[in-house]
Amino acid sequence: MNSEPRQIRLIMELRGEGVIDAAVLGAIERTAREEFVPPQFRDRAYDNTALPIGEGQTISQPLIVGLMTQALEVGPRHKVLEIGTGCGYQAAVLSKLCRRVYSIERHKSLLAETNKRLQRLGYHNITTIAGDGTRGWPEQAPFDRIIVTAAARDDVPQAFLDQLAPGGILVMPLGATTSDQHVWRIRKAADGAITRERLWPVRFVPLIKGTPDSKGRAT
Ligand code: SAH
Repeated sequence: MNSEPRQIRLIMELRGEGVIDAAVLGAIERTAREEFVPPQFRDRAYDNTALPIGEGQTISQPLIVGLMTQALEVGPRHKVLEIGTGCGYQAAVLSKLCRRVYSIERHKSLLAETNKRLQRLGYHNITTIAGDGTRGWPEQAPFDRIIVTAAARDDVPQAFLDQLAPGGILVMPLGATTSDQHVWRIRKAADGAITRERLWPVRFVPLIKGTPDSKGRAT
């Protein structure tokens, strides 16, 4: 199947919807989304929709990946933390724009598949770990950028603010229900002052404390 015309149509659609950063569009264009979706959804890989990836999780809608990546203002020297690796698509897009991506996923089985995929496709600047991302990744902190691809119910976990470098940006969805969720951009100034900006409404799967092995307990 020649997916090129569909991919070009998708890029045009994203541009029309506000993803105008050429580097971000280029990174999406160079990421074969068909490799990240289950085989039965491959013919819909370049539709602008979220799709199931197993364990009740989804690969994010391309428009949301584009808008969140753009909002993150990623640069080539940046060290980026992602919470919610899922199938690895967002990490793959980010990896083309920054120095290294560190990504945490709470579902071990999902992550095992994703690690195989990333290795097969030759992504060498993505490091993943299985565990509860709400604690961040203290051993690797600080991060220039943090992106969270699951929605926190209440507020931004303190670990994310602590592990964000001065001058850093955090982009994440917040909100208890899918009908009332927004992406927020949080900046940490050089002096540590935090400012918050509400961007747009979204529908993300929830950010869940703990891991399935710990029976979801927040320990
Ligand atoms: N970034 C993915 C989106 C995956 S959906 C993509 O590019 O398609 C969100 C993911 O966040 C799910 O895989 C879910 O298991 C994971 N997740 C939810 N809560 C988490 C937590 N506390 N720590 C790590 N991952 C979490």
